[in-house]
Amino acid sequence: MSQHENSRYRTVLFDLDHTLLDSDASINEAFVATMGSVGLDAGSALRDHFDRINNALWRGVERGEHSPNDVLTLRFQILADELALDADPVAMGDTFAEALIVYGDLYQGARSLLDSLVGRCQLGLVTNGIGRIQRGRIERLGIASYFEAVTISGEVGVAKPDASIFDLTFDALPGANRESAVMVGDSLGSDILGAQNAGIDTVWFNQHNTAPPANAPTHTVSALADIAPLI
Ligand SMILES: [Mg+2]
Repeated sequence: MSQHENSRYRTVLFDLDHTLLDSDASINEAFVATMGSVGLDAGSALRDHFDRINNALWRGVERGEHSPNDVLTLRFQILADELALDADPVAMGDTFAEALIVYGDLYQGARSLLDSLVGRCQLGLVTNGIGRIQRGRIERLGIASYFEAVTISGEVGVAKPDASIFDLTFDALPGANRESAVMVGDSLGSDILGAQNAGIDTVWFNQHNTAPPANAPTHTVSALADIAPLI
Protein backbone atom coordinates (compact mmCIF):
# COMPACT_ATOMS: atom_id res chain seq x y z
CA MET A 1 0.00 0.00 0.00
CA SER A 2 1.36 3.42 -0.86
CA GLN A 3 1.78 6.18 1.68
CA HIS A 4 -1.05 8.02 0.00
CA GLU A 5 -3.49 5.18 0.62
CA ASN A 6 -2.38 5.05 4.22
CA SER A 7 -2.93 8.75 4.75
CA ARG A 8 -5.53 9.63 7.31
CA TYR A 9 -5.67 13.19 6.10
CA ARG A 10 -5.90 14.51 2.57
CA THR A 11 -5.71 18.20 3.46
CA VAL A 12 -3.23 19.65 5.95
CA LEU A 13 -3.53 23.25 7.07
CA PHE A 14 -0.58 24.95 8.75
CA ASP A 15 -0.17 27.95 10.95
CA LEU A 16 2.99 29.99 10.18
CA ASP A 17 4.22 31.82 13.30
CA HIS A 18 5.82 29.59 15.93
CA THR A 19 4.72 26.54 13.96
CA LEU A 20 6.85 26.63 10.80
CA LEU A 21 8.65 29.94 11.36
CA ASP A 22 10.96 30.79 14.26
CA SER A 23 8.96 33.91 15.01
CA ASP A 24 10.84 34.61 18.23
CA ALA A 25 14.04 35.11 16.22
CA SER A 26 12.15 37.27 13.74
CA ILE A 27 10.63 39.46 16.46
CA ASN A 28 13.92 39.72 18.40
CA GLU A 29 15.81 41.05 15.37
CA ALA A 30 12.96 43.32 14.33
CA PHE A 31 12.66 44.80 17.81
CA VAL A 32 16.38 45.57 17.99
CA ALA A 33 16.22 47.22 14.56
CA THR A 34 13.15 49.26 15.47
CA MET A 35 14.46 50.48 18.81
CA GLY A 36 17.78 51.26 17.16
CA SER A 37 15.95 53.41 14.61
CA VAL A 38 14.82 55.73 17.44
CA GLY A 39 18.14 55.63 19.28
CA LEU A 40 17.15 53.15 21.99
CA ASP A 41 18.92 50.07 23.23
CA ALA A 42 16.52 47.11 23.08
CA GLY A 43 17.10 45.83 26.62
CA SER A 44 15.03 43.13 28.29
CA ALA A 45 12.79 45.49 30.31
CA LEU A 46 11.86 47.39 27.15
CA ARG A 47 11.28 44.12 25.33
CA ASP A 48 9.04 42.79 28.14
CA HIS A 49 7.05 46.00 28.00
CA PHE A 50 6.62 45.67 24.25
CA ASP A 51 5.68 41.98 24.49
CA ARG A 52 2.91 42.77 26.97
CA ILE A 53 1.48 45.39 24.60
CA ASN A 54 1.91 43.23 21.49
CA ASN A 55 0.46 40.06 23.03
CA ALA A 56 -2.54 41.93 24.41
CA LEU A 57 -3.23 43.44 20.99
CA TRP A 58 -3.05 40.04 19.25
CA ARG A 59 -5.44 38.58 21.83
CA GLY A 60 -7.71 41.49 20.92
CA VAL A 61 -7.45 40.42 17.26
CA GLU A 62 -8.55 36.91 18.25
CA ARG A 63 -11.56 38.45 19.98
CA GLY A 64 -12.33 40.55 16.90
CA GLU A 65 -11.66 43.86 18.69
CA HIS A 66 -9.27 45.19 16.07
CA SER A 67 -7.69 44.13 12.82
CA PRO A 68 -4.18 42.74 12.38
CA ASN A 69 -3.40 45.80 10.29
CA ASP A 70 -4.22 48.04 13.26
CA VAL A 71 -1.62 46.20 15.33
CA LEU A 72 1.15 47.33 12.96
CA THR A 73 1.15 50.90 14.30
CA LEU A 74 -0.91 50.58 17.47
CA ARG A 75 1.75 48.60 19.37
CA PHE A 76 4.29 51.37 18.85
CA GLN A 77 1.78 54.11 19.49
CA ILE A 78 0.99 52.56 22.87
CA LEU A 79 4.68 51.95 23.62
CA ALA A 80 5.59 55.53 22.67
CA ASP A 81 2.74 56.89 24.79
CA GLU A 82 3.51 54.77 27.83
CA LEU A 83 7.23 55.58 27.72
CA ALA A 84 6.74 59.19 26.58
CA LEU A 85 8.99 58.58 23.59
CA ASP A 86 9.50 61.32 21.06
CA ALA A 87 9.14 58.96 18.12
CA ASP A 88 6.79 58.43 15.18
CA PRO A 89 4.81 55.20 15.75
CA VAL A 90 4.00 54.91 12.03
CA ALA A 91 7.69 54.95 11.09
CA MET A 92 8.47 52.52 13.91
CA GLY A 93 5.74 50.18 12.69
CA ASP A 94 7.17 50.33 9.19
CA THR A 95 10.70 49.58 10.36
CA PHE A 96 9.40 46.70 12.44
CA ALA A 97 7.32 45.29 9.57
CA GLU A 98 10.23 45.38 7.12
CA ALA A 99 12.50 43.67 9.63
CA LEU A 100 9.90 40.99 10.37
CA ILE A 101 9.97 40.17 6.65
CA VAL A 102 13.75 39.98 6.53
CA TYR A 103 14.58 38.09 9.76
CA GLY A 104 13.71 34.64 11.09
CA ASP A 105 14.20 31.20 9.57
CA LEU A 106 11.97 28.18 9.34
CA TYR A 107 12.32 25.85 12.30
CA GLN A 108 14.62 22.94 11.75
CA GLY A 109 12.52 20.17 10.26
CA ALA A 110 9.83 22.46 8.87
CA ARG A 111 10.94 22.27 5.26
CA SER A 112 11.45 18.50 5.35
CA LEU A 113 7.97 18.13 6.86
CA LEU A 114 6.48 20.14 4.01
CA ASP A 115 8.54 18.15 1.49
CA SER A 116 7.28 14.88 2.93
CA LEU A 117 3.62 15.95 2.70
CA VAL A 118 3.40 18.03 -0.45
CA GLY A 119 3.12 15.17 -2.94
CA ARG A 120 0.50 13.20 -1.05
CA CYS A 121 -1.59 15.90 0.63
CA GLN A 122 -3.11 19.19 -0.29
CA LEU A 123 -1.48 21.88 1.87
CA GLY A 124 -2.86 25.22 3.03
CA LEU A 125 -1.53 28.03 5.21
CA VAL A 126 -3.89 29.83 7.61
CA THR A 127 -2.22 32.66 9.48
CA ASN A 128 -3.30 35.51 11.72
CA GLY A 129 -1.14 38.36 10.56
CA ILE A 130 -0.58 41.34 8.35
CA GLY A 131 -0.73 40.59 4.63
CA ARG A 132 2.36 42.55 3.63
CA ILE A 133 4.48 40.93 6.33
CA GLN A 134 3.26 37.37 5.88
CA ARG A 135 3.45 37.54 2.05
CA GLY A 136 6.96 38.98 2.29
CA ARG A 137 8.09 36.21 4.62
CA ILE A 138 6.53 33.45 2.53
CA GLU A 139 8.32 34.86 -0.52
CA ARG A 140 11.68 35.18 1.23
CA LEU A 141 11.46 31.71 2.75
CA GLY A 142 10.55 30.21 -0.63
CA ILE A 143 7.59 28.23 0.69
CA ALA A 144 4.75 29.62 -1.46
CA SER A 145 4.82 26.68 -3.85
CA TYR A 146 3.95 24.20 -1.09
CA PHE A 147 0.55 25.74 -0.47
CA GLU A 148 -2.53 25.57 -2.66
CA ALA A 149 -4.20 28.18 -0.48
CA VAL A 150 -2.75 30.91 1.73
CA THR A 151 -5.27 32.70 3.96
CA ILE A 152 -4.04 35.71 5.91
CA SER A 153 -6.38 37.27 8.46
CA GLY A 154 -5.23 40.79 7.63
CA GLU A 155 -6.30 40.27 4.03
CA VAL A 156 -9.61 38.51 4.55
CA GLY A 157 -10.93 40.44 7.57
CA VAL A 158 -11.52 37.43 9.82
CA ALA A 159 -9.04 35.74 12.13
CA LYS A 160 -8.56 32.39 13.85
CA PRO A 161 -10.37 31.16 15.96
CA ASP A 162 -13.33 32.34 13.86
CA ALA A 163 -14.48 29.38 11.78
CA SER A 164 -15.04 31.63 8.78
CA ILE A 165 -11.29 31.93 8.07
CA PHE A 166 -11.32 28.14 7.66
CA ASP A 167 -14.44 28.35 5.46
CA LEU A 168 -12.56 30.74 3.17
CA THR A 169 -9.57 28.41 3.08
CA PHE A 170 -11.71 25.39 2.17
CA ASP A 171 -13.33 27.45 -0.60
CA ALA A 172 -9.85 27.93 -2.06
CA LEU A 173 -8.88 24.24 -1.84
CA PRO A 174 -10.52 22.20 -4.60
CA GLY A 175 -12.05 18.95 -3.36
CA ALA A 176 -11.12 19.53 0.28
CA ASN A 177 -13.49 18.29 2.94
CA ARG A 178 -13.41 18.66 6.69
CA GLU A 179 -13.51 14.94 7.48
CA SER A 180 -10.11 14.42 5.86
CA ALA A 181 -8.51 17.69 6.98
CA VAL A 182 -6.29 18.59 9.89
CA MET A 183 -4.94 21.87 11.26
CA VAL A 184 -1.36 22.04 12.58
CA GLY A 185 -0.57 24.89 14.94
CA ASP A 186 1.03 26.02 18.19
CA SER A 187 -1.75 28.23 19.53
CA LEU A 188 -4.57 26.74 21.58
CA GLY A 189 -6.56 29.96 21.42
CA SER A 190 -6.39 30.46 17.67
CA ASP A 191 -5.27 27.31 15.81
CA ILE A 192 -6.76 24.56 17.93
CA LEU A 193 -9.94 26.35 18.99
CA GLY A 194 -10.39 27.71 15.46
CA ALA A 195 -10.07 24.30 13.84
CA GLN A 196 -12.44 22.84 16.43
CA ASN A 197 -14.89 25.64 15.63
CA ALA A 198 -14.57 24.68 11.95
CA GLY A 199 -15.07 20.98 12.69
CA ILE A 200 -11.66 19.68 11.70
CA ASP A 201 -9.04 17.59 13.48
CA THR A 202 -6.04 19.23 15.11
CA VAL A 203 -2.34 18.69 15.67
CA TRP A 204 -1.12 20.86 18.53
CA PHE A 205 2.58 21.69 18.18
CA ASN A 206 3.39 21.94 21.88
CA GLN A 207 7.09 22.59 21.65
CA HIS A 208 7.36 24.04 25.16
CA ASN A 209 5.52 21.11 26.79
CA THR A 210 2.69 23.22 28.14
CA ALA A 211 -0.02 21.44 30.16
CA PRO A 212 -2.80 20.09 27.92
CA PRO A 213 -5.95 22.21 27.64
CA ALA A 214 -9.58 21.44 28.35
CA ASN A 215 -10.36 21.58 24.63
CA ALA A 216 -8.19 18.56 23.86
CA PRO A 217 -6.51 18.57 20.44
CA THR A 218 -6.84 15.42 18.31
CA HIS A 219 -3.06 14.97 18.37
CA THR A 220 -0.25 16.61 20.33
CA VAL A 221 3.42 16.63 19.31
CA SER A 222 6.47 18.28 20.81
CA ALA A 223 8.59 18.08 17.63
CA LEU A 224 7.84 18.80 13.99
CA ALA A 225 9.38 15.43 13.10
CA ASP A 226 6.48 13.70 14.89
CA ILE A 227 3.83 15.20 12.61
CA ALA A 228 4.27 13.31 9.31
CA PRO A 229 3.50 9.89 10.84
CA LEU A 230 0.13 11.23 12.07
CA ILE A 231 -0.90 12.30 8.57
MG1 LIG B 1 1.32 30.39 15.75
